[in-house]
Amino acid sequence: MRHGTRHGWIEVVAGVMFSGKSEELMRRVRRALIAGRRVQLFKSHLDDRYGGQFLISSHDGRQVEAEPVSNSVQLAEKIRPDTQVVAIDEAQFLDDGICEVIDVLADEGRRVIVVGIDMDFRGEPFGPMGPLLARAERIDKLDAICVVCGDPATRSQRLIGGKPAPAEGPTIQVAGAESYEARCRRCHEVPARDRAQRELL
Ligand code: ADP
Ligand code: ZN
Repeated sequence: MRHGTRHGWIEVVAGVMFSGKSEELMRRVRRALIAGRRVQLFKSHLDDRYGGQFLISSHDGRQVEAEPVSNSVQLAEKIRPDTQVVAIDEAQFLDDGICEVIDVLADEGRRVIVVGIDMDFRGEPFGPMGPLLARAERIDKLDAICVVCGDPATRSQRLIGGKPAPAEGPTIQVAGAESYEARCRRCHEVPARDRAQRELL
């Protein structure tokens, strides 16, 4: 594809779990299919929500299946020369290299749709989401509903045995015993495991 012949850009859909990011991604991909665009859809290997399969189809029978990738290099290698729209789900699990990859894709004239959880369970920027948001031409931040108070929720509450999980745990917990719920800033709790010790100092 010749540089500058088409107008490419990056759009990011960010937000907490249960904020409807996947619904929004499907809506955008479906509309791109209706427009007759050649679409490729990627999701992180780490995400098993779709039971290993993730298919988006439009009413007129066009469809696109998600290709699982482990990292940004793999994603870059899977891009077909004639692809016009690149959609990436669960971008928070990818490495920082994804920033450069999507910059190149947009420079080449492609539309890049990046979807991810912007904050980890501690309320800190999740993986490459911060730099991705900075690079985007367009950002939509979605919220969920706080399960405690009913206000708009922006944060993911990690629970272990029904109790707020301490900040020291790993950011990505694969197949752990923990669960998550959406909460607002006020109801979000991240106890420090060593708080009791620090208070003794
Ligand atoms: P995401 O991809 O952001 O995790 P999904 O598109 O998978 O979001 O799910 C969004 C859906 O989850 C909502 O349409 C709603 O039906 C459901 N849901 C469950 N819990 C909540 C919550 N606490 N706040 C908002 N929606 C919720
Ligand atoms: Zn709340």
